[in-house]
Amino acid sequence: MSNTFQCTQCGLCCVGLNIPLSVNEALLWIARGNRVKILVEAIPWVTDQVLLSDSLKRKETITFTGISGTLAIRLQVTLVAYFSQACPHLNEHNRCGIYDERPMTCRVYPFELNPNRLLNPNNKLCPKEAWSLTDTSAQSIQQKNIQFSIIDAQTQSNINTIHQSNVNEVSIKQQLCVALGIRSCSLSNDGYLFHQVNQTQLLAHLQSLTTGSCSGDSLKDPHDQSWLIHSNSNATLQNLVDIGSHCEATHALSSGQEYIHFQ
Ligand code: SF4
Ligand code: SF4
Repeated sequence: MSNTFQCTQCGLCCVGLNIPLSVNEALLWIARGNRVKILVEAIPWVTDQVLLSDSLKRKETITFTGISGTLAIRLQVTLVAYFSQACPHLNEHNRCGIYDERPMTCRVYPFELNPNRLLNPNNKLCPKEAWSLTDTSAQSIQQKNIQFSIIDAQTQSNINTIHQSNVNEVSIKQQLCVALGIRSCSLSNDGYLFHQVNQTQLLAHLQSLTTGSCSGDSLKDPHDQSWLIHSNSNATLQNLVDIGSHCEATHALSSGQEYIHFQ
């Protein structure tokens, strides 16, 4: 554990969550009787590799290509465990009931998955006692941010595992969207569009995609189909129209779709 953080096991981070999962974690989560939804985000994409920042190069490894209207995009698909109250695996003693098999994302909290983002304790649910701080004022935390960006080896290894799963699973997630008929998404950094799907179908598709028992040809991505980008911001929609995107306001969402706009 980091020398600046010690989990107090308060359980606050196990309530009302969306937890990103790997494909294997999603299979386990559904098999345990819990629900998984699918987040799809679009990133408008420049084609000139030389211009890509380190952050975009990293994004490129975990996304697949698509088109929205005439706009080139990349799609990031995330399988997400969700619950509005306490996690179904949080026991009466505020402890994780599947501790040895808990998702990687649970193991990494409160540290940041994105190496370009500094950890700010003020944005985390952990109580003051969890941090090696004498003063949690914004100024103190700002001064100590560089210290919080240094994490322990096990957490770093877990973060690397999550990233590698995201890289390895791009094709499975692309084929999953084809199999489930998912062709709509949110705009990255603008909002989240979640697809709530039949869990039996989701489990069956994930099982066949991971065991290679589905017909690859029947799941080829139809490149001629445009992705529909949703936003509830008029300014975002106008910008998307201006750059040729196929987009729509969120009041036109289909059933089973849920949109969360960034503040
Ligand atoms: S799986 Fe365990 S650690 Fe993760 S949210 Fe549930 S109770 Fe908490
Ligand atoms: S909120 Fe922080 S201190 Fe509390 S259980 Fe979660 S990680 Fe530990």
